[in-house]
Amino acid sequence: IQTKLPKVGTTIFTVMSQLAAQHGAVNLGQGFPDFAVPARLVDALARAMREGHNQYAPMSGLPALRASIAAKSKACYGIDLDVDGEITVTSGASEAIFDAVLAVVRPGEEVIVLDPCYDCYEPAIELAGGVAVHVPLDPADFSVDWQRVRDAVTPRTRMLMVNSPHNPSGAMLTADDMHALADILRDTGIVLLSDEVYEHIVFDGRVHESVLRWPELAARAFVVSSFGKTYHCTGWKVGYCVAPPALSAEFRKVHQYNTFCTFAPAQHAFAEMITTEPEHHEQLGAFYQAKRDRFREQLLTTKLRPLPVPGGYFQLVDYSGVSDLGDVDFCRWLTIEKGVAAIPLSPFYAEAPAGQRLARLCFAKVEATLDAAIDRLQRL
Ligand code: PMP
Ligand code: GLN
Repeated sequence: IQTKLPKVGTTIFTVMSQLAAQHGAVNLGQGFPDFAVPARLVDALARAMREGHNQYAPMSGLPALRASIAAKSKACYGIDLDVDGEITVTSGASEAIFDAVLAVVRPGEEVIVLDPCYDCYEPAIELAGGVAVHVPLDPADFSVDWQRVRDAVTPRTRMLMVNSPHNPSGAMLTADDMHALADILRDTGIVLLSDEVYEHIVFDGRVHESVLRWPELAARAFVVSSFGKTYHCTGWKVGYCVAPPALSAEFRKVHQYNTFCTFAPAQHAFAEMITTEPEHHEQLGAFYQAKRDRFREQLLTTKLRPLPVPGGYFQLVDYSGVSDLGDVDFCRWLTIEKGVAAIPLSPFYAEAPAGQRLARLCFAKVEATLDAAIDRLQRL
């Protein structure tokens, strides 16, 4: 039978987590925290279930949760969102990305993605019948060469995807980037999809340039986030999409037939958490910065060379001082022979730079996990 994604295999995150389990490796591969969800959130979830909030939530999301997302967006980015018309709660950022792409990309239309990029973007585009146009980020620092983006725009371009803080590199868009982006999109029909799942994990006093801060961009954008990253609960799969009313209406046409609604008890829990404990997301950068700093300090005692991490919870390391293997082989070897699982970068590219020797390590872990990994990495 003819199928739609013949070239797609199992995601690298699943492959590496399975390999880590099989070989008893410390798993710094797939991105997920190994520490507890905030107690208040767990209590709120259990209470929501006990109180009987176990049936379908409203299709676009629980009103109280949408209101809390609007309040948070106002506090963080200064935007006034229409609670009813501009916010849709989804089953993770993944669902939001799929819904947005399926809602606007028609067969044969092009979507510009910046490589390396998160692995679900291209399959979503392909399933919509679109064509992913890959523009490489600068391999030196993962910044965007906007001239190359401009050159990639054609009359068929329907969407441009950006991701800041960036997975896998941690690079962040700056105010200059936002101006360059606006210049390119102005007077076009191109829709922007901004993946901001790591929005609250930013370091060294940097400002997260959410598209929601930039009215000209927000007017043509789907902005996607995930509570999994902010509240240490990647397995709950709750996220949301902010978009102007006309785009949100199209988005909901897909969402209502894809999942219809998202796990109702968790929506009650997040609504309570965001409203009563805003310190949680406000302090998330400092929380992760301490982990980043400690981990980097430890990495300096190994033969791996850590690259800068402006945001997110991934540390890229250059392993050329250890091995000449390609990144997929290196990460398999590291997992099987050395007991530390990492993620290779090449699966994030249409074509990775020749000779690039980088692997991604997740530092969303308790100190004991990171110490155990460092102990093994010191023996490389
Ligand atoms: N985008 C990026 C850049 C991510 O790293 C992730 C999570 N790995 C997602 C989207 C998907 O988020 P969720 O788990 O909420 O679907
Ligand atoms: N987003 C996570 C990462 O980058 C993985 C999510 C998944 O396993 N699908 O590691």
